[in-house]
Amino acid sequence: MDGIGRPIDLLGAWRATPLYLRIVAAVALGVATGLALGPQAQLLETPAKLVLRLLGALAPPLILLAIVQALMRAHLGGRQALRLVTLLLANTLVAILIGLAVANVVQPGRWTTAAPGAAPAKAAAAVDPLSQLLDSVPRSIIGPFSDNGAVMGVIFIAVAFGVALRGFKTHEVRTVEDLVHVALSSLIVILHWIIDVVPLAVFGLVASIVGVKGFGDFIALGGFFIAVLTALTLQFLYYCARIRFGSWARPRAVVAGVRDALLMAFSTGSSTATMPLTYERLRDKVGLREQSASMGALVGSNFNNDGTALYEAMSALFVAQLIGLQLSLGDQFLVVLTSVLASVGAAGIPEAGLVTMTMVFRAVALPTDYIALLLTIDWLLDRCRTAINVMGDVTVSCLLDGKVRAPQDHARDGAALQ
Ligand code: ASP
Repeated sequence: MDGIGRPIDLLGAWRATPLYLRIVAAVALGVATGLALGPQAQLLETPAKLVLRLLGALAPPLILLAIVQALMRAHLGGRQALRLVTLLLANTLVAILIGLAVANVVQPGRWTTAAPGAAPAKAAAAVDPLSQLLDSVPRSIIGPFSDNGAVMGVIFIAVAFGVALRGFKTHEVRTVEDLVHVALSSLIVILHWIIDVVPLAVFGLVASIVGVKGFGDFIALGGFFIAVLTALTLQFLYYCARIRFGSWARPRAVVAGVRDALLMAFSTGSSTATMPLTYERLRDKVGLREQSASMGALVGSNFNNDGTALYEAMSALFVAQLIGLQLSLGDQFLVVLTSVLASVGAAGIPEAGLVTMTMVFRAVALPTDYIALLLTIDWLLDRCRTAINVMGDVTVSCLLDGKVRAPQDHARDGAALQ
């Protein structure tokens, strides 16, 4: 989906280097620069702000189109569909509750040694050329159209889509589904551009934090990392228990059967790319009925991102703890609600959860600036939560298959089931 080709080799080389390597290098360089410049490094925060603003602007249309496309493509029918929706919702809620419980117990946000509330510095009040330029980058895709006179914003959007759509100009659009597909694909092209510059944002942010606040936030980030891994492990154990008691399959055999899919999810960071393999393994190695495998792994996987939901809720709590903000019960409920929606809307591609997270933060008025802090470790956590997302699809498939195993020849040809 490389819409614009490769105009210069530098860009090619940049893109050919794996994202995690770029981010690790950016963190190292950022620490060195922060130590060297001290509080002056605060100026380097600007790229991080820009990247976050762009991610925030992309979130609503991405969620909208991802859900529209998933619904248009899903082949659902009656009671099975209802069962699927109930299972998905229950698993996602459990994931979020596990995440919130672990974040409340471990309290990674309080591991910081920096003063609470010392947020990344607010932009200077005076209108300098830099902040004027920043202001012309739209905060949302439709914002500039409703804001009278926001011509710069409109131009910005026109250029982005104009270039992104160049890669699709010969695509035939015959049905509404084609139209939604092209719209979503062009958004994903733009998202990839933004992800390309994430290492720059990481560099600026790390330099600014180290320069202004020292290493306190990074100790907290280590705590958050451990807390997320703990919560994801608990979610995995929950899945195993659900499979053991809710289906004929045995967790050990299921995990062995789908091992390749879990590994692929971890290595690609994309549950959508893994989807065909998950489906095939469930059918041929685990021995589920055709219909259960396809409902759980193909239909369900479009909506089912428990690992993402858990991560988004934990991130919100972590940042609230970090800045010394008490989230009320109502706020935590809002976090649960928006995390469910954000995980449904997260496309199964690398880092999608980070984009939809802006929605959760905005719902409870948390500063989205802090999402940039998570950028430094997201490349690894994304892989872990993607594997859990796939394990969630596997679990739903097993539960849909029920407590009685289908005769094997039936399961394979997918005939006359249920
Ligand atoms: N990478 C995840 C997936 O493909 C989505 C996310 O970023 O949470 O399932």
